[in-house]
Amino acid sequence: MSGKTIFGQIINQEIPCDEVYSDKHCIAFRDIQPQAPVHILIIPRKEIDSLRSVELEDQNLLGHLLLVAASIAKSEGLDDWRTVINTGEKAGQTVFHLHIHIIGGRNLNWPPG
Ligand code: AMP
Repeated sequence: MSGKTIFGQIINQEIPCDEVYSDKHCIAFRDIQPQAPVHILIIPRKEIDSLRSVELEDQNLLGHLLLVAASIAKSEGLDDWRTVINTGEKAGQTVFHLHIHIIGGRNLNWPPG
């Protein structure tokens, strides 16, 4: 059955992705429109539309996603990187399945646009 979002379809293996990591809780793959030399997305297998919708029962999952993010960033050779979670349209969220961006490999400006 088709997932609700493009990331749901990736989880269901209905569309391909450039996968870099997978376990029973999450999948990580390269962003199709990279904004830096390293641009990877980590998504939970659980359907959560955004950080707005997380609950106490997601505490371990959220911690796991951050640990995976750090591990992937290091395995990509990054010492410095940015982890981003856009929440809501006005904050730049375009895919409504929770995801963490790992962005690195170049100097990153602050504040973001
Ligand atoms: P956001 O704007 O925070 O919702 O991020 C969504 C990200 O998903 C964007 O950086 C897109 O380039 C990326 N994206 C959309 N479709 C795909 C896809 N099929 N495979 C990999 N990345 C994608």
